[in-house]
Amino acid sequence: MRTLRLELGNDDRFGPDNLPYGVFAPAGGEFRTGVRFGSAVLDLAALLDDSTFAQPDLNAFLAQGPVRWHTVRQRLRDLVRGPLPASVIHPLDSVSLRLPVAIGDYVDFYASIDHATRLGRFLRPGGAPLLPNWRHLPVGYHGRAGSVVVSGTPVIRPRGQLRTDSGAPEFAPSRRLDIEAELGFVVGAGSEPGTPIAVDDVGAHIFGVALVNDWSARDIQAWESQPLGPFLAKSFATTMSAWITPLAALESARVPLPDQSPEPLPYLRGRRDWGLDIDLRVHWNGHEVSTPPYRSMYWSPAQMLAHLTVNGAAVRPGDLFASGTISGPERRQSGSFIELSGNGSEPIEVGGEARTFLADGDSVTITATAPGPAGARIALGEVSGHVLTARRC
Ligand code: MN
Repeated sequence: MRTLRLELGNDDRFGPDNLPYGVFAPAGGEFRTGVRFGSAVLDLAALLDDSTFAQPDLNAFLAQGPVRWHTVRQRLRDLVRGPLPASVIHPLDSVSLRLPVAIGDYVDFYASIDHATRLGRFLRPGGAPLLPNWRHLPVGYHGRAGSVVVSGTPVIRPRGQLRTDSGAPEFAPSRRLDIEAELGFVVGAGSEPGTPIAVDDVGAHIFGVALVNDWSARDIQAWESQPLGPFLAKSFATTMSAWITPLAALESARVPLPDQSPEPLPYLRGRRDWGLDIDLRVHWNGHEVSTPPYRSMYWSPAQMLAHLTVNGAAVRPGDLFASGTISGPERRQSGSFIELSGNGSEPIEVGGEARTFLADGDSVTITATAPGPAGARIALGEVSGHVLTARRC
């Protein structure tokens, strides 16, 4: 058996302390689970001789729970430091990637106080930017799991009802197509109907994180969302990274949450080390336009999952919940273009052009890094997509 030792540079952000999971197919082969190491993908079914990883999604592995996740991760951390069978190593640029999980349910939250405050000012000028419930619960809605696509999938500009000056709607392609830079949390172990997940038990249920772009048509959203929440403005596409970073890889990124005032109800009070020091970068047509800081998020993923299940709703392996747009206090830390462009009134420069919302042909790539052990940094898998012209209908 031919073996190879994969040597990574010290500054490689996909080293042995990262090891995100994805689902890949080698040229002409079937989809199965892989782990990313440097610029290679390792075939886990072959490397570990374990049929759990021969399936085209991670759900069976997620369902096995945190003890098993830990065992596999420790084994992989040992294995990648030694010679590996050449047959399990695939260059990243030679494989196809697909959505790593079969997502049963998808929830999107609204957990950034800076985003909610800025949006509130646009939506309710002169009123209180935050609605009275905002500091008492992580506001969220159930999204469309079937519209979640893997990074790299083109996004077709949606058509829909847009309000006109006359007050009556027209039917047209969205003219205010936007992004939302978010962090997605992938549920591993599920829960039973009627049994909420306690805020301090969440660590046993969240498997890992992946960058998410929640594409949003602001003009469709403004007309349809009253009095209920987002509907067709969001459900045409949500893009998720091909790589899920295990929560265990983010231990060095744990920081205290920002202060919460007033103190939340008891079921939302938990350990406060659920802040995550993750730095995002948003690239518009290859130009960096903002740097959203995850550490400034008001509600933690533990509070989100506790709230999501507090009425007895069960979660299942592979469920996805996302943080909502990540925005910091500065305008250039915004995770959406509606914020970056002052609701479209203050264009920003993108590669020499003045821009507000997305044009056909535009691409957006969101990347992120976080502290790893011993001063190193790890990267999350990127999430990218480009906009295609609306279809005729
Ligand atoms: Mn969103």
